[in-house]
Amino acid sequence: MLTAVQQRQAENRQSPKLENIRKLVVIGCGGYIGSHLLEAVLPRTQIEVFGADPITSKIEDLLAAPNLRVHRGYLRQHETLDTLEEEISSADAVINLAAICNPAEYNTRPLDVIYSNFLDSYPLVEMCSKHKAWLIHFSTSEVYGRTIASYLGENRYDDPALYELDESTTPLIMGPIQNQRWSYACAKQLLERFIYAHYADHGLPFTIVRPLNFFGPRMDYIPGRDGEGTPRVLACFMAALMDGQPMQLVDGGHARRTIVSIHDAINATLRILENADRAQGVIFNVGNRNNEVTMAELAEHMRRIYAEVAGDDAYRNHPIEVVSADDFYGEGYEDCDRRMPHLERAETLLGWKPVLTLEETLRETVDYYYDHYVKNPAAGQIAAGE
Ligand code: UDP
Repeated sequence: MLTAVQQRQAENRQSPKLENIRKLVVIGCGGYIGSHLLEAVLPRTQIEVFGADPITSKIEDLLAAPNLRVHRGYLRQHETLDTLEEEISSADAVINLAAICNPAEYNTRPLDVIYSNFLDSYPLVEMCSKHKAWLIHFSTSEVYGRTIASYLGENRYDDPALYELDESTTPLIMGPIQNQRWSYACAKQLLERFIYAHYADHGLPFTIVRPLNFFGPRMDYIPGRDGEGTPRVLACFMAALMDGQPMQLVDGGHARRTIVSIHDAINATLRILENADRAQGVIFNVGNRNNEVTMAELAEHMRRIYAEVAGDDAYRNHPIEVVSADDFYGEGYEDCDRRMPHLERAETLLGWKPVLTLEETLRETVDYYYDHYVKNPAAGQIAAGE
């Protein structure tokens, strides 16, 4: 059965048929984005999908699909690379989603972050370059780092040129080396540059996606239930609501994010696949300019929606507290102040526009978490993916 969000999305636009694609390789197919991508692609039974991921708990329901084969392994393992090389040589597109992409780990596991996001991935780029296989790489909006406005002091956000993020003109600005928060952005940026150099020197067909806060069901994990550590903000706030703990606003919750529904993001990905001639050689922001919130506003929205979903008005006043970044993340954290993407490129080349509102996106997501962890906690025993 379609959820309300999926229904509205279907009313708003057609999903690409992908008649040009016969075989896809998806690395990181078992993660949050991968699980939604497989859900969208597998019903198109003419497409053969070869997936790779060490963890498959988020796609258990899909594993029986006749057009899916999955290799369980990490990119850094020779066996995985050998298997992938065979599959890539006959693929129409290779989608790379493999990453450690959780800010709480950028300053606490910087080496793993750099290995995962650059060193483990560059052999894949070389392989695609060798076979001239179309590489659709999921990078990050974090390559933009902090905005120019954030370095110029208060009240410089009156000029969009100082904070809006354009794929081809905005400089990529990161803080000093000891602020290890930037280990992720820097590794991702180097991989983008590596891909681009292979394109320029060897004709690698590529597309880069820079995601801006994809929200939806199955994002991250809930600490103490199906994972350990500090997930991203959505799961942190959900965990606080479910466990009766205060929601925590890092440094006051002034940072802003634009939030896009995972379903809109998957639609953008399908449109990329459908439009090889227009998408190759291009970097795309994928986000939603209409859904901008401060983290303090996000906490307010989430406790209100949680109260509605749980049918308990007390959650409207769920405690919210302010914590310092050092206390929350440890030393070496530095925040991205604002992420407002230019989206004209995706609109012009792919005919894509996000359609789901912040309210619809949060409602679907809170509904999912409530169903999964509160109403049906046994189902919440899935392992954390990366
Ligand atoms: N954040 C917060 N409370 C939390 C977790 C995160 O205020 O419990 C803040 C974090 O400092 C950042 C924003 O929420 O300003 C988004 O963080 P997230 O981990 O989702 O990833 P990011 O968007 O920075 O990649």
